[in-house]
Amino acid sequence: MQLLDSSQPLRSTCPYCGVGCGVAVNQDAAGIQLVGDPWHPANFGRLCSKGSALAETLEHDGRLLHPLVDGQRTSWDEALERVADGFSQIVAAYGPDAVAFYVSGQILTEDYYVANKLMKGFIGSANIDTNSRLCMSTAVAAHKRAFGADAVPVCYEDIEQADLVVIVGSNYAWAHPVLYQRLAAAKKSRPDMQVVVVDPRRTATCDIADLHLAIAPGADAYLFNGLLHHLRREDALALSYVEQHVEGFATAFEAARAVGSIPKVAQVCGVPESQVGEFFRMFARTERTVTIFSQGINQSSSGVDKANAIINVHLATGRIGKPGMGPFSVTGQPNAMGGREVGGLANQLAAHMDFSDAENIELVKRFWNAPNIARQPGLKAVDMFQAIGSGRIKAVWIIGTNPAVSLPDADKVRAALMACELVVVSDCVRHTDTTACADILLPAAGWGEKDGTVTNSERRISRQRALLPAAGEARPDWWIISQVAQRMGYAEAFDYTKPAQIFREHARLSGFENVPDFRSGGQRAFDIGALAALSDAEYEALQPVQWPVNSASPQGTQRLFADGQFYTPNGKARMIAVAPRLPAVVTDSDFPLVLNTGRIRDQWHTMTRTGKVPRLSAHSYEPYVQVQAEDAQRYRLQDGGLARLTSRHGSMLARVQVSDDQRPGSVFVPMHWNDAFAKAARVDALVAPITDPISGQPESKHTPVRVAPYRPAWQGFVLSRKRLELPDTSYCACSRGTGYWRHEIAGEMLPGEWRDWVQGAENDAGEWIEYRDAAMGRYRAACLQDGRLEAVFFLAPDQRLPEREWLSSLFGQAILQPAELAGLLSARPPLGAVSDTGRIVCACFSVGAKTIANAIQTQGLGSVEAVGACLKAGTNCGSCVPEIRRILEKHAGEQCA
Ligand code: SF4
Repeated sequence: MQLLDSSQPLRSTCPYCGVGCGVAVNQDAAGIQLVGDPWHPANFGRLCSKGSALAETLEHDGRLLHPLVDGQRTSWDEALERVADGFSQIVAAYGPDAVAFYVSGQILTEDYYVANKLMKGFIGSANIDTNSRLCMSTAVAAHKRAFGADAVPVCYEDIEQADLVVIVGSNYAWAHPVLYQRLAAAKKSRPDMQVVVVDPRRTATCDIADLHLAIAPGADAYLFNGLLHHLRREDALALSYVEQHVEGFATAFEAARAVGSIPKVAQVCGVPESQVGEFFRMFARTERTVTIFSQGINQSSSGVDKANAIINVHLATGRIGKPGMGPFSVTGQPNAMGGREVGGLANQLAAHMDFSDAENIELVKRFWNAPNIARQPGLKAVDMFQAIGSGRIKAVWIIGTNPAVSLPDADKVRAALMACELVVVSDCVRHTDTTACADILLPAAGWGEKDGTVTNSERRISRQRALLPAAGEARPDWWIISQVAQRMGYAEAFDYTKPAQIFREHARLSGFENVPDFRSGGQRAFDIGALAALSDAEYEALQPVQWPVNSASPQGTQRLFADGQFYTPNGKARMIAVAPRLPAVVTDSDFPLVLNTGRIRDQWHTMTRTGKVPRLSAHSYEPYVQVQAEDAQRYRLQDGGLARLTSRHGSMLARVQVSDDQRPGSVFVPMHWNDAFAKAARVDALVAPITDPISGQPESKHTPVRVAPYRPAWQGFVLSRKRLELPDTSYCACSRGTGYWRHEIAGEMLPGEWRDWVQGAENDAGEWIEYRDAAMGRYRAACLQDGRLEAVFFLAPDQRLPEREWLSSLFGQAILQPAELAGLLSARPPLGAVSDTGRIVCACFSVGAKTIANAIQTQGLGSVEAVGACLKAGTNCGSCVPEIRRILEKHAGEQCA
């Protein structure tokens, strides 16, 4: 694999989360080297575990390399004609609203711009929505209500400059790791800085928290309304700021007063009065406060109100537009913000313009010279897939996302796609749950091959640059969409030849009839008009910059609203009267537990990229359900056993983790697993398609479920050099190790003869050794070729199985030694061999939990720094530091050195 230019470090942006870290990529004799870009203002050289492993995802295995129509390889010409014809015919027969695009916060702004222009300006429907609907559409709606525009007021530096940082509904340490690292570093250098975490779960983020409010799921608006009431009572509001710059205070305050004072708030939130009182006092006395919020707020049937309840307290205290202050919605996806800018949401038009304003529609129509401009919002994600299911939408083009896994009621989404007349999927991955539903597959360029821009959570536009030639026949998304548009008859408007050309048009539209000083008539916050004349070379060299970038702020804008002026007709921000309400569907005796979903530290979305990296898979091998200890007892769940979760919409299997990090009555399941990595483990099959009435964002944090032990007839694991299809399994979680695949399996029917089953699955003409304990129902077998281990199978009637670490390490050897062979089927390593390291905690240096615990005990290690000095764990990306600290806490006082 050869970089396009290896004479100098190439600079690009990480494709995972909304932090938007810069990376620098080089090539030397050892291969491609990737580090954090020391000059990028989002990360200043830092990367998390996922970003650090990016170079390990660049191989072409698993890629979609050629266009496919009905499963057959075809030419680009043929595939593009089929897409254009298919869409044109359906539009002609049923009208423009019979087609839809479903796009992604993973694609670049230039791709997004072209897709939006084609659908809203030329096809004539607004049926284009994005998976960012599932992530931050709530924050968009809340910003627009409060500020008159979808404008994030703060910047990353504000987090470091704050004296109080409140983190609400976010496992920030895992979901936005580098921002968390910046916060942790700031707190270390200024120990007086305080951090409050508001989250039903105790997460890694609590590692640096002075206070953790483990509130009842969904109670956030009660808490923030209670806070507003408290601040008024304590005379801690900035009433002169409110008078000059804010409207709606009286009604917002009346709504807040109805929530009551601290005892009532504590009761509704299910936390001690003392904790609520402490939080309120901290907030009241600390001027420099940033409140970070994310999916715990956004993914809710009352998410927009919750977000506005947070923004209300910042407006009422005047803590906005100044260093170290402000409400801060952090986005999950790398380019969720770019999608917002071009109108990637079905209820937006383009460049932050709306369908609610007829002048906006005419302006965009004129600018694009659009023959069929859409005049009303299209269907939001959940509604869109319901319309596909009902046959109202007959053709859908899915670009860079996997809705058969990630949308609520995912089984229905899959069924809808299977029944849809025309499903086109552009992706860089060949096999996903969604590509399995496609009639036409179009190979898209992947990260490292794409060229364009992305915008991160602080409004910073950065370049994502091509580092490598495209794999196979893959093409950039903007090219694919433009080619289809040309074949649909819109050649002139889509004659793009390079992303710079699209970016300039996008920048021009943002500044089109947009007066930079909104107080003199301009009304659009999103304005990058100053970038509209960039030459190709200037675009290539574009440095990270925060919008607005216009004649008033040609170098960009770090912080908004410094002058107390907002993007509303009278320039005043709006406080919103929030009447808090609990989740739309509550638990009952059939479904007594609340299911919460979210990210884990080392996986990204549906694992299509991070699942390729052994060291990222080592942190969590399997889908799991985390359950509080008393609940585990009540529902007869065993730590390490399997469980079935069932909701009114679907069911799944997962490994049980008993943990007091959960509140009683709540369980947590990661969102990542899907059919490509596990059988029966798509958590979104359980999630109800209930959405916020304003934003359309699904309530992914609150699904009533029941959990019961799953007791299969047999369980086991297989380690094999190749990934195996294992028949008769009801549960099978696959993960990639270094040189092998790990399969954790279970089945309901015992195969007739284990030997036949095992040898049939491995299908290798090797030398087999086996061990059978018929009385105990145990069977073990290994396959070797010329002394090299090919596979081991351990099968048993229950979960009592040996550790996998030593067995896994044998795949790194060309030939097994006699002592290793002797211990193979008893899983007993020879004296002095690598034994059980435990679950990997530090992904960068592959250090396991047991290794860390052992070092703490035997070497008297008493701090994270000491563990780092001894084992290197935690010394690279730092993502594992909270877990190391918890291992230290657990083993404190056990030192035997
Ligand atoms: Fe990538 Fe990690 Fe930075 Fe997010 S925090 S952009 S995943 S390196």
